[in-house]
Amino acid sequence: MKIGFIGLGIMGKPMAKNLLKAGYSVVVYDIVPEAVKALTDAGAEKGESSADVASKTEVVITMLPNSPHVKEAVLGKNGVLEGAKPGTILVDMSSIAPLASKEISEKAAEKGVIMLDAPVSGGEPKAIDGTLSIMVGGPVDAFKKVEDILKKMGSSVVHVGEIGSGNMTKLANQIIVALNIAAMSEAMVLATKAGVDPEKVYHAIRGGLAGSTVLDAKVPLVLQRNFKPGFRIELHIKDLMNAIETGHEVGVPLPLTSQVMEIMQALKVDGKAGNDHGGIIQFYEKLAQIEVKK
Ligand code: NAD
Repeated sequence: MKIGFIGLGIMGKPMAKNLLKAGYSVVVYDIVPEAVKALTDAGAEKGESSADVASKTEVVITMLPNSPHVKEAVLGKNGVLEGAKPGTILVDMSSIAPLASKEISEKAAEKGVIMLDAPVSGGEPKAIDGTLSIMVGGPVDAFKKVEDILKKMGSSVVHVGEIGSGNMTKLANQIIVALNIAAMSEAMVLATKAGVDPEKVYHAIRGGLAGSTVLDAKVPLVLQRNFKPGFRIELHIKDLMNAIETGHEVGVPLPLTSQVMEIMQALKVDGKAGNDHGGIIQFYEKLAQIEVKK
């Protein structure tokens, strides 16, 4: 089966490479030529546009920053729907607003294209290892057809409901991750300023109830002062914005999410929007005038 892959950034590049490694033929496209070259060097076929990719493949995967980018690549000029044949399955793995997934899927259905929303969790290291968690919304029969493909990129692939449910699940995930990073930051800055070695604090607590995937992923990087993304603060702002909007739509106030959103806004003003989201700690460090490091 020939697979199309559009969006070859931090996540899309290793995900597409894993499909090549698994033996699939992959046709790729990105608006950045260097991103395409990295994949054609690894054995992928170059597509000239999103429409071209769709015309050559039966399953098209998109891995783009946010809703407007997915709308442009799918619905726009030279977009997926211009090239796709009826029966094509479009798997959007970007993290976008659940409502946008529904809108795009309705337009796709008019052309006979079936859409799944399948955002991921795990970040670049798990994208490279092929061990992402993938949460999928959309028709079950389409899910069954692409499940094996998704399993080449993720170790957990779960169908969660109708179209939009994948992104709704991802928003829940992003709230938990953001609040965890903020809690870790607040606690580590306190311990450090009070005179306790932060590395020892980390090792002492990681096996107990405070231990978490976030703690293990982010504290070692903070101690090395490594805020290279990974997952950029600006992308996490996008996710929390989508979560807050969705919360307002369905009638769920999100007080803690809103607070962490404002912390991220402060970091953006401070020129740190391109840092990894582990860089949230710098907000607390500035307030307390201390750095958490080895
Ligand atoms: P990225 O910015 O590194 O990559 C996005 C790519 O899309 C870029 O190469 C860009 O050139 C390309 N692009 C943009 N518009 C395009 C268009 N119209 N047509 C073709 N290509 C286009 O972003 P990323 O970190 O890879 O994240 C992608 C998605 O995955 C986002 O929704 C993000 O929230 C989500 N995500 C990221 C991580 C992470 O750790 N980076 C983890 C989980 C989920």
